[in-house]
Amino acid sequence: MSTPRVLSVASEAYPLIKTGGLADVVGALPLALVAEGVETRTLIPGYPRVLAALGTVEALPLPAAVAAQAGSAGQLLAGKVQGLDVLVLDIPALFDRPGNPYVGPDGQDWPDNALRFATLSRAAAEIGLGALGAWVPDVVHAHDWQAGLTPAYLHYHNGRRPGTMMTVHNLAFAGKVPLAMRARLHLPREALGLDGVEFYGSLSLLKAGLQFADRITTVSPSYAAEIVTPEGGMGFDGLLRGRGSALSGILNGIDDIDWNPKTDALLAKRYTATSVLGRTANKVALQERMGLDIDPDALLFGVVSRLTWQKGLDLLLKALPDLLGHGAQLAVLGAGDPGIEEGFRDAAMAHRGRVGCIIGYDETLAHTMQAGADALLVPSRFEPCGLTQLYALRYGAVPVVARVGGLADTVIDANPMALSAGVATGVQFFPVTSDTLSGAIAHTAELFADRDAWKRMQANGMRTDVSWRGPARRYAALYRAISAE
Ligand code: ADP
Repeated sequence: MSTPRVLSVASEAYPLIKTGGLADVVGALPLALVAEGVETRTLIPGYPRVLAALGTVEALPLPAAVAAQAGSAGQLLAGKVQGLDVLVLDIPALFDRPGNPYVGPDGQDWPDNALRFATLSRAAAEIGLGALGAWVPDVVHAHDWQAGLTPAYLHYHNGRRPGTMMTVHNLAFAGKVPLAMRARLHLPREALGLDGVEFYGSLSLLKAGLQFADRITTVSPSYAAEIVTPEGGMGFDGLLRGRGSALSGILNGIDDIDWNPKTDALLAKRYTATSVLGRTANKVALQERMGLDIDPDALLFGVVSRLTWQKGLDLLLKALPDLLGHGAQLAVLGAGDPGIEEGFRDAAMAHRGRVGCIIGYDETLAHTMQAGADALLVPSRFEPCGLTQLYALRYGAVPVVARVGGLADTVIDANPMALSAGVATGVQFFPVTSDTLSGAIAHTAELFADRDAWKRMQANGMRTDVSWRGPARRYAALYRAISAE
């Protein structure tokens, strides 16, 4: 087959709607797949922000099975946004709601999330079975729990169906719902049981995908190895071990047009690997924005992250006295657990000029951070791939990361051999504790003091290929293998 057609289905896609790395991947991969001869359409829900960002669209009727499952009317909108061919599931009763895709104004998950995303999955399955008429995909590619029922619906369909692929961006989100929801989700009785989608006394929408997709991928080789162990498997390790021959890890890339310090319109000053001095203007801009002392010589650590247990930022709060002991500064951009948010707010009050924190989500500031921070801290307890360290490499912010998952696969630790071979791109530490994080911060301060070593690491990072080209080739090969089966 020369041109596989792929329907990608997810709950977010940049630039239409984003809460995290999932959106970046879902938005960027299809564009990179064009060079591989893969034609992708991306199905996402019609949240208000998505509808507002759509330009000219073609309205298509909602397949009857989708309307029946939603218990409500709607339509499919086909359009193109910045090169991304999108299909938008416009069912106002399910998706016309304020705020975040998952959480209501009261901060709680919408109570009907299972139904909302089951309907998204049903729409993907119906398109997979030919609901659009002329355009029938060879492979339906489902991302994370929100799309997890897609492979299950196609599995339970009698007759010809497209191939299916399930990509795990984060195994921690199992999409658990009560067993009693089975009929409401239009799953057959046989879906109950451990060989089905039952998961420790609940149903798991993610498990539906892991159980029934023809292939499973996750977003780094190291994470693929971690999730088949009891420590990293979040309860899915037995299932994933059993499906070992269908499981592989493909690293994420980044959108290297949006994230390019040479052309980035969001920066105070643009620069390249040969003009890294241009970073100083961005560092000053970041220090100003964060209320830090303006000091181009101070080692400035940055964080751009969800503030959650996974990201290990409570450990950074513990290691903060050591960081400050090296004369360094810290700038934090993030939102998440109230306790961690408060910890950084308090730290910024207690150490004015040395610690700055902005609680919230700010895409522009995320770019400033990558261009202005000297080093980017990612002390995650687990990290399927991680994107911020990839942006950091490209922007010459030296990543200081826990040696887990995709962080282990993308950063070359400044150990003695890597330094003498001149190939280091960052600093790694393991196990993930506040003490080892303090050790990594001390090591970073030592490297920063050696300006030549530091410049070399920056240059190595900026030369690293973090594009989608290699990963897109691997996805294309898998699509072709699935459609040939
Ligand atoms: P995850 O998907 O687990 O949150 P990733 O590192 O894979 O982590 O992706 C996070 C993405 O979200 C990156 O694009 C990062 O720049 C962005 N991001 C995270 N927090 C913020 C924030 N507070 N403001 C702006 N961008 C953010």
